[in-house]
Amino acid sequence: MRASKSLSLILSACVAALLACDRGKDAVQSESSHAPEAAVSSPISFPADNGPLPAFDADRAMQYVKDIVRFGPRPLGSANHKKVEEYIKSHLNGDQVEDDAFTADTNLGKFPVHNIVAKFPGNRDGIIVFASHYDTNYPLRNTSYVGANDGASSSALLLEIANQLRGKQRDGYSVWLVWDDAEEAMKPDTEVDFMSDSLYGITHLAEKWQADGTLKKVKAFMLADMIGDADLNIDRESNSAPWLQNVIYEAATRLGYQSHFFAQTLRMDDDHIPFVKRGVASIDLIDFTYGYNNVFWHTSQDTVDKLSPQSLKIVGMVMLESVRILDKLDPLPPK
Ligand SMILES: [Zn+2]
Repeated sequence: MRASKSLSLILSACVAALLACDRGKDAVQSESSHAPEAAVSSPISFPADNGPLPAFDADRAMQYVKDIVRFGPRPLGSANHKKVEEYIKSHLNGDQVEDDAFTADTNLGKFPVHNIVAKFPGNRDGIIVFASHYDTNYPLRNTSYVGANDGASSSALLLEIANQLRGKQRDGYSVWLVWDDAEEAMKPDTEVDFMSDSLYGITHLAEKWQADGTLKKVKAFMLADMIGDADLNIDRESNSAPWLQNVIYEAATRLGYQSHFFAQTLRMDDDHIPFVKRGVASIDLIDFTYGYNNVFWHTSQDTVDKLSPQSLKIVGMVMLESVRILDKLDPLPPK
């Protein structure tokens, strides 16, 4: 079913964001809304999980958001951007970290790009990747735009997830956390097509992992983006794998958080696309209704006061619970 109501919502969002509307998260179309659907692919028989609830320190995660925002705008190539790189790495001391640094040839010239990957090993063959971009929108670099929700919230989420994974031998898949760079477009998409001017960091990482054989081991790629909104409504994103959406919904249901998931369906061009294109089961966990008609997105109103520690906790716990479900699914559903 295609709901024109939702389509107009997205169009309005672009109008509202007029000057800055580069579709950094490119909402291509919207298809339906209303009640969450329990399943859109073949039913999965989920194994029971009688273990303790995942842990997540919401206040600590929120402090990370505030710390990242305090650096100010962090567009590619800026001093603030470098400081955030160092901030993230300083919280991964002692962890197994892969630095993926390269020079991107963008529409505005060459820029240093730096993905940071922290690896938490498990005893099962295979990797679950969680990802978040940490850069802020380049066209807004000379404004007060700090991307509290768009970039900082999900990057902070991953830092807290690292705290929960650290020092424990996972009885399941390895979990790799990716803080990827240069997700945002360099030019407004009124000038340049979004997909030809964005996702520089994650595309490089996907290419690298394809070349060195890592990609074959990635069982699932889970992207978190704009997940800090106090009014949390994670969308059902149409480029995502339906069976992975079912895993997320099952995890949310087990934790009692299902009302925050999948009331609205959207299609997004976002950091999961390079993995989708390479056949990796992927999901974009995004709440693209940030303020009425998404009015806070890519504006100087994307500030910490719009966010809630509880939203970080909901998404963090659901992601961690979903990995425990994946650990026990054997075999995983076909891609
Ligand atoms: Zn953005």
